[in-house]
Amino acid sequence: MTEPGTDATHPPAPDEHTDVVSAPPADAESVEDYYARIAAGAGGDGRLPVAVEEMPGWDIYPYELEGLRLKPIRPPADEEPPRRGEEPADCWCASAPSPDTDGTVVWTNTRWRLSLSRDTGLPIMLVLQPVEHHDLPTLPGDLAAEMGQLVVAVADAVEHVPSVGRVQLAKWGDGGAHLHLVFLGRPARMLQFRGSPLIDWEENLPRVPLEVLQANARVVAERMVVHVGGRAGDLGRSGPQG
Ligand SMILES: [Zn+2]
Repeated sequence: MTEPGTDATHPPAPDEHTDVVSAPPADAESVEDYYARIAAGAGGDGRLPVAVEEMPGWDIYPYELEGLRLKPIRPPADEEPPRRGEEPADCWCASAPSPDTDGTVVWTNTRWRLSLSRDTGLPIMLVLQPVEHHDLPTLPGDLAAEMGQLVVAVADAVEHVPSVGRVQLAKWGDGGAHLHLVFLGRPARMLQFRGSPLIDWEENLPRVPLEVLQANARVVAERMVVHVGGRAGDLGRSGPQG
């Protein structure tokens, strides 16, 4: 899946030289001080009050306020835990590309793969990943430039799925080290699902059947090929899979 010579064209990651200019990291707040300020605002049981004047008070918030309370705030851990695939040799990308046995590959080119989440309550939820092992802060410049174009193309394509009103985009990366962007299709005219609570709704909604997800994803795949080239996945065209 690697194109010959691709690495030679990668610009270097940004230099870490901000400590010799006007904003040395030593001047920035430590997380211990950040935590101390939060702890000072919490009650004796370590709980902060629910911000009912913010999102929890909006009609798009999924949960009733009665009985709602935040968990006690925990102090910072001693260190960041390693994520899945922190070492490239341990990552899923170190083995040969997995065949599309479950019909969830939406679109690929030699550098990127767009996959369908088959466990979702949304009309469509997609994951965009580079084929080679990269994390976002160290993504080479040429892939970063292409990612920008792909984000636009995927966003356009998702918003052409008839049951989607708006695309949302997420990058978490606390679980897996290999860069993965998540595109969520917010159901059209279901205004209660607007905004950032969509991901909370998503986990509570009934799962959408795979054949429905695949039909929706075929809309995305065909627009991707038209706009950025590459190849559409099978997406159930050749019959039921996995
Ligand atoms: Zn990887």
